[in-house]
Amino acid sequence: MTEITGSCLCGNVSYKGDGEIKMVINCHCTDCQQATCSSHATMVFVSEDAVEFTGETSRFDHPADSGNTLTKIFCGTCGSQVAGKNSGRQGVIGLRAGCVDQKELIKPGANIYCDSAIPSTAMDPKLKKFPAMPG
Ligand SMILES: [Zn+2]
Ligand SMILES: [Zn+2]
Repeated sequence: MTEITGSCLCGNVSYKGDGEIKMVINCHCTDCQQATCSSHATMVFVSEDAVEFTGETSRFDHPADSGNTLTKIFCGTCGSQVAGKNSGRQGVIGLRAGCVDQKELIKPGANIYCDSAIPSTAMDPKLKKFPAMPG
């Protein structure tokens, strides 16, 4: 078993779990840009049951263009967004790559929502690019 651990900037929120990663995606949608205040979000999808959080998290729900509800999970003290959930994908949680300790596990498989990418964002030409959410 590969362990996956991570924490927010101030350390009040941390997590630990089984690092069996289902998928790693770079998302360039406007929501991810605003939520991360960065060019894109790199999301590490794992089974929600496999990860245990410690510390008090804050949550923010918002609708996705699919009609699903997206939930951002973040530290109310330092603001780090540690994870996200999608009501359309029960049982799965998307850890935010920047807070994951095992950097070597972060191997994105695709870039999505490339139509709204910041033009200067470098993307690995070997990865698949989708203009929006893959079909
Ligand atoms: Zn924090
Ligand atoms: Zn996104």
